[in-house]
Amino acid sequence: MPDAPDQAGLDRDEAWRRDLGEAALARVLRFIATLDEQAICGAIDDLDRFRALHEPPPEEARPVEALLDRVFTEVVPPSFHTAHPGYMAYVPGGGLYPAAIGAFVAAATNRFSGVWQAAPGLAEVEACVLGWFRDWMGFPAGTRGLLTPGGSMSTLAALVTARERHLGRDLREGVLYASVEVHHCVTKAARLAGIFDDRVRLLPVDGGHRLDLDRLAAAVAADRRAGLRPFLVVSSAGTVHTGVVDDIAAVGTFCREQELWHHVDGAYGGFFHVVPELAPLLAGLPDADSLALDPHKGLFQPYGSGALLVRDGEALRAAHEAHAGYLPDAAAEGFYDPSQYGPELSRPWRGLPIWLSVQSLGMAALRRTIAERRELALAAAARLAEDPRLEVLAPPTLSLFAFRLRAGTPEVRDARTRELLLRLRARGRVMLSGCRLDGAEVGRVCVLSFRTRPRDVDALAEDLAAVLDELVGPR
Ligand SMILES: *Cc1c(COP(=O)(O)O)cnc(C)c1O
Repeated sequence: MPDAPDQAGLDRDEAWRRDLGEAALARVLRFIATLDEQAICGAIDDLDRFRALHEPPPEEARPVEALLDRVFTEVVPPSFHTAHPGYMAYVPGGGLYPAAIGAFVAAATNRFSGVWQAAPGLAEVEACVLGWFRDWMGFPAGTRGLLTPGGSMSTLAALVTARERHLGRDLREGVLYASVEVHHCVTKAARLAGIFDDRVRLLPVDGGHRLDLDRLAAAVAADRRAGLRPFLVVSSAGTVHTGVVDDIAAVGTFCREQELWHHVDGAYGGFFHVVPELAPLLAGLPDADSLALDPHKGLFQPYGSGALLVRDGEALRAAHEAHAGYLPDAAAEGFYDPSQYGPELSRPWRGLPIWLSVQSLGMAALRRTIAERRELALAAAARLAEDPRLEVLAPPTLSLFAFRLRAGTPEVRDARTRELLLRLRARGRVMLSGCRLDGAEVGRVCVLSFRTRPRDVDALAEDLAAVLDELVGPR
């Protein structure tokens, strides 16, 4: 075994490390500089090509340049281009560059961020980030939070916390409520938390696709009469289908009267609360018992960045704390110990990408960018509404709206809507996704990538008109 510092086995030497870094950096820089020339969606149907990626590991080292070239030419392009300015499908995010650098630095320094004493600075950077989130969302001082891999995991931690607080060991009687428009991660989290589907009430929505309070009250009363224990209501700060914001304030009032836990799913819309002028669109959000956020959406972080805030921080801790004789207990001294507030022990340093993004870009720019996502969506909705072949179902509350075709039977409209989304994507500049709404296919536009510009809204309107010319005929 070599023991000179410049030939220490797997660390190789500094020249090799620099070459690796520079090779990756050069490709990343070119990737970002040429985004507009890249297709919005690569060849995702070429299954043989993906199967060919299964190969045995090599015995001997291979040159990294060639490996990175494969990643950048064969592996990454054939996919939905979620980093592209024209990506308006599902719920975009983008992936800020300082966050990518933060992830690299976190991995390279590889400190242990699960336990406070192992890396107090890392834990405090995360506590600082969670403090920002708490303040932006208007949560009170006793709030504790957690940085998670995403909204689904935040929802799971919230449901477990509510379950522990309200049901203790008697899980089977516990019932939770949401609208049919709620994200499917809620039913998934319920099952994982031991709340089976016969105790999950997905209630029909009102005419505006919002959680219907009368139906909620009736369902809670009926379950109480049946001897069950209602414990949790989930409302949406922006649904994924149409971007509708539930009446969070009214749901909150109902939950307080009924002594139910109120969880708000802010995975799509929560970060609009950072902009003071837009916060009223999410009225009632600061009073929630728990709030799921997705920095990898509304704060433009790379995937793998979720967060949870819990108003009663002690409830979050009670649901997750665990002690081992060989680990020190920092929470006893009031410090933030991530592993005592969430399911993980060893975990990546999730706070650094967010911290580095916010610090290096500044809040003024981030707030402006968030606000502009809404303006762009409003502009897109206005452009689409000008086309007589389309009907915009409702203008965006935040930055998401749905539209449908006017002409044709329901079957024809469904088929044309699906075809329209495919042809739009094939044009390479803009990608939308659809969903089923009230039994019919609709298209939806979600502007949330920090890269989306007015010219991408122009591209959307132009390409959509061209595809409609083909499918429906000239306007
Ligand atoms: C994305 C999303 C989720 C799920 O979050 P992940 O980060 O994908 O796990 C939940 N709810 C809403 C409204 C979302 O947009």
